[in-house]
Amino acid sequence: MLVIMEKNSTAEQCTAVEAAIRRMGFVPLPVPGRSRTAICVTGNKSPIPPTDLAYLPGVLECISVTKPYKLVSREVHDEDTIVKVGDVEIGGPTPVIIAGPCSVETEARTLEVAQAVKAAGANMFRAGAFKPRTNPYEFQGLGLEALQTLQVVRDETGLPVVSEVLDPESVDAMLPHVDVLQVGTRNMQNFSLLKRLAQVDRPVLLKRGMSSTLQEWLMAAEYLLAGGNHQVILCERGIRTFSDHARNTLDLNVVPLVRKLSHLPVLVDPSHGVGHRDRVRVMARAGLAAGAQGLLIEAHVHPDRSYTDAAQTVDIDTLRGVKRDMEVLAQMESISSLNAEDRVTA
Ligand code: PEP
Ligand code: MN
Repeated sequence: MLVIMEKNSTAEQCTAVEAAIRRMGFVPLPVPGRSRTAICVTGNKSPIPPTDLAYLPGVLECISVTKPYKLVSREVHDEDTIVKVGDVEIGGPTPVIIAGPCSVETEARTLEVAQAVKAAGANMFRAGAFKPRTNPYEFQGLGLEALQTLQVVRDETGLPVVSEVLDPESVDAMLPHVDVLQVGTRNMQNFSLLKRLAQVDRPVLLKRGMSSTLQEWLMAAEYLLAGGNHQVILCERGIRTFSDHARNTLDLNVVPLVRKLSHLPVLVDPSHGVGHRDRVRVMARAGLAAGAQGLLIEAHVHPDRSYTDAAQTVDIDTLRGVKRDMEVLAQMESISSLNAEDRVTA
């Protein structure tokens, strides 16, 4: 249930509503919003009769929330969330490009790639210091040394930096060097990691689990918001299916549905979603047309020499092409307004 307070309600009235919710055995969570004060009731397993709270002073109305996820839902918060990272806005009218090599490499090479992706139009740089690998004998990232390299990239290029966090223990080491903490597909339901990230004042880029349903993905995001971190960016990166013509099946069906159900920004990662560099650009276009608010692209000055994920890493020319496509699509302003219309009429 969502309790909407009157515009001129007082702080004491909000506190009284929260206390009443606690007395009922549930947890009240204030929902930030520009136009209204609202308090979400969480922890109830069945609907609460609206009459239980509607009589309290300052309450305008009580709205029942039909989905198990609440804070991420448009039922609770209708306006699009914009996550600000430095000067970059994710979830606003202009889509963004986050690009870089799969892994942080030597300082010189990583900086060279960062300067190249910046010149090609990327808004943020992304590279993994810690790499989750299916095979334990493969390269797992340069770790702490790579965090220093990311710091150099940030200082030299001014680009905000995204990097994957594998476990709660690494969070403190990453915070001084990384602007956005990525949760990879293998960790989407690592609840101890999500609970730790809920406590940090840093945006989290939450990739969809490779075998996760839309509801499981949104529930993982709900953990972050319920724990206090509202700066969450979703990223579709492909799921496991029977298809073997691509590394994963990029589930673009999910994008308009996420836009409809949730106010959180959603990105598409065609690099992991396809796994082959020759199809990354076309699927990037498709992702934007489906309503993605940005792209995550693995790019390198010498893709074949990438430490990891070379087969799906595009060269800088291709990244420039992705940027051009994005600009062409933006001129068709009908795309974003069509997506908004779909949301209303679906
Ligand atoms: C990555 O972004 O390099 C990565 C490991 O991604 P995913 O978690 O989507 O496999
Ligand atoms: Mn990768």
